[in-house]
Amino acid sequence: MENITAKAPSLSARLAESEKIIIGIGSEWALQPGDKDIRDCRLGDPKQAHIKEAYQALYELVRDRDYYLVTSLTDGAVYDTPFDKSRLTAPCGNIHWRQCSKACTKDIWEEFEVLDGVCPHCGGPLTGNTIKAETYIEEGYLPGWKRYMAWQAATVNRTLTILELGENFSTPTVMRWPFEKIIFFNRKSLLYRVNETFFQIPPEAEPRSISLHKNSLEWILEEKNLAFTALQ
Ligand SMILES: [Zn+2]
Repeated sequence: MENITAKAPSLSARLAESEKIIIGIGSEWALQPGDKDIRDCRLGDPKQAHIKEAYQALYELVRDRDYYLVTSLTDGAVYDTPFDKSRLTAPCGNIHWRQCSKACTKDIWEEFEVLDGVCPHCGGPLTGNTIKAETYIEEGYLPGWKRYMAWQAATVNRTLTILELGENFSTPTVMRWPFEKIIFFNRKSLLYRVNETFFQIPPEAEPRSISLHKNSLEWILEEKNLAFTALQ
């Protein structure tokens, strides 16, 4: 495998020459509930300002580009960002969407639709439509996931950059392992794995990976500033 990481340019230059960009948003970007219930937390809350700023910086770096965003998070924050809703998928679900905890129906409701928290069909308690549900109703995320798979198939032999930002090992089948596989086969691809703790790259992925041992929100904020300073 040709080693392209040694001659990688700055992030903004690399993005500029990329035909396709995959953004993977992981656990470092999770909303911080503090002493609140996570369901009462939104990206627009003053306490989440730093995370909101990082999402905005990330958006500025890729807006108008052919990107797809995938996240393992379930806090729903990504839906409150400027990213194109037809270019994102949250396969682990959304805590703000409700499903029957007994999965008696595949219906999924917005929080405000069922105020008493009881399934209109069987009377059982509702729960979050996430992988933590005993029986996860997958219909919530599948349309976006199928779009992502079709889009991903069109990255073959294209100049592709993958930004894996702050992902841990809770659900490695969503981002970490597929990303390593993609860069193994696509000779024009490059993976940035940025993480305060889980920045390690397996040997077979090394030739087309850049591992950065730092907080991925800070990195994006820095890179956005560098990119926009360079333009002035
Ligand atoms: Zn039910």
